[in-house]
Amino acid sequence: MQELKCTAFMATPTYVLGMADTAKKMGIDPGKDLSIRRITCAGEPGASIPATKKRMEEAWACKVYDHIGATEIGAWSYECTSQPGGLHVNDAFFLVEIEDVETGQIIDGPGKNGKMLITAFDRIGKPCIRFDSKDVIRWADHTCECGRTFRMIDGGVIGRADDITKVKGVLLAPTAIEEVVRSFPELSDEYEVVVSKVGDVDDILLKVEMSSWHVEKKDIILARLQDQLRLRTNLGYRIEVRPHGSLPRYQVKAHRFKDLRKKEGSH
Ligand SMILES: [Zn+2]
Repeated sequence: MQELKCTAFMATPTYVLGMADTAKKMGIDPGKDLSIRRITCAGEPGASIPATKKRMEEAWACKVYDHIGATEIGAWSYECTSQPGGLHVNDAFFLVEIEDVETGQIIDGPGKNGKMLITAFDRIGKPCIRFDSKDVIRWADHTCECGRTFRMIDGGVIGRADDITKVKGVLLAPTAIEEVVRSFPELSDEYEVVVSKVGDVDDILLKVEMSSWHVEKKDIILARLQDQLRLRTNLGYRIEVRPHGSLPRYQVKAHRFKDLRKKEGSH
């Protein structure tokens, strides 16, 4: 990047944050010493999760855009420069439908989450018709000031149908935990969630990293974290604090959410 004076790049949010971390360890401040003006993200929901987007924009001192696609289908949506809190669907090349997971009905109106079914109009060798990408999305209730008339989805991909799971009878989307954890500047970019069964009861363990200079205020920070998590997800968590740098780092796509109950059931 320094040699070529790059002004843009594309990566997963995990990689964007990991690269900033590595640069800092090398004595390079990515926001000041490099010339990146924009980053496009794909592969994970992060660029549409406000707290994660903010972390990336602050680390690189540039604009971050989300972009969603799938290997089987192609790039079906993008965030325009107006950034209205959602993404445009490329209606010219794709038919996007949202299916109610419980009833199987197609959702036409805004506000209700469902599973995306997608048909690509330009795929010849391997056509995909009403392909189930397992992405959970919802229609936005607004148009975009950029003037494009392509339909909009609200807040990007909200999660994966595989990941949204019932814990203690409550529907939990891992992206909601990410939004809360990354809104705490005292905590590092990395975290891990482990859902398991203790006896007959579901248990959620959240591991976070805190730098040593915040440890004095640990109890206050954890109480605030617990409150915010309960507010966003209606669930209680066991929180474990680890030293900075001790949780696993990921190269491309991260696996921060582990549901051990699924494994037990599949044996
Ligand atoms: Zn727009």
